[in-house]
Amino acid sequence: MPYSYDDQNIFAKILRGEIPNDTVLETGHSLAFRDIHPQAPTHVLVIPKGAYVCYDDFAQNASDAEILDYTRAIGEVCRLMKVEENGFRLIANAGTAGVQEVPHLHVHILAGRPLGRMLAPA
Ligand code: AMP
Repeated sequence: MPYSYDDQNIFAKILRGEIPNDTVLETGHSLAFRDIHPQAPTHVLVIPKGAYVCYDDFAQNASDAEILDYTRAIGEVCRLMKVEENGFRLIANAGTAGVQEVPHLHVHILAGRPLGRMLAPA
């Protein structure tokens, strides 16, 4: 499915420096920053710098260099946040059913408390 990217989304504005962010890590192709409404003691978002709507868009259309950088950046943030020992959760919401609010790929890194089961009952 072809994806249409809205360059007015809030993460595009962060990448252009139009609004501030609390950066945790910046690499050649990725940016990690703290979620403005944290759901856990550690709640960091990792985004690619390229214009990708969701994980599927990224996996289909990003270069190998972008995919490598992004994958490694997520791991590096986990180490920077020291979440490996007690555990953590990665979430990448997509589309309507996934309740994706910001249409630029982001992985949530959540940690620092027991996170409960993966999904609440519908
Ligand atoms: P999602 O529902 O997966 O699209 O999550 C979007 C996330 O972006 C939410 O957890 C928001 O709290 C977060 N968010 C929205 N605006 C900002 C911002 N300006 N800086 C940091 N996080 C943000």
